[in-house]
Amino acid sequence: MPDRYQTTTKPEADSRRHRDRHRPNAATRRWYSLDRWERLRDRVLRESAYTCAECGHITLALDVDHIRRHNGDPRLFWDRSNLQALCHSPCHERKTQRGE
Ligand SMILES: [Zn+2]
Repeated sequence: MPDRYQTTTKPEADSRRHRDRHRPNAATRRWYSLDRWERLRDRVLRESAYTCAECGHITLALDVDHIRRHNGDPRLFWDRSNLQALCHSPCHERKTQRGE
């Protein structure tokens, strides 16, 4: 029965597609846990004097944001000039909602 073969091979194909779609995100999540990112993040926060680049609010609750979306590209991810400090809310949340 060809139908039965199709149902046994399909889940495997689905999980492979699923993995491929998530691969860039998985790599990026690893970068965020590296000491190198921790140091770079600290540097951006210090250099910005804990001031949000968007609204000028001074707060400790700042996120380091990639100005240009890196999409898993290490050059954009690790480029200091591509980083800015944004207050978590509302500036970074607003930018994340726009999909950047
Ligand atoms: Zn802000």
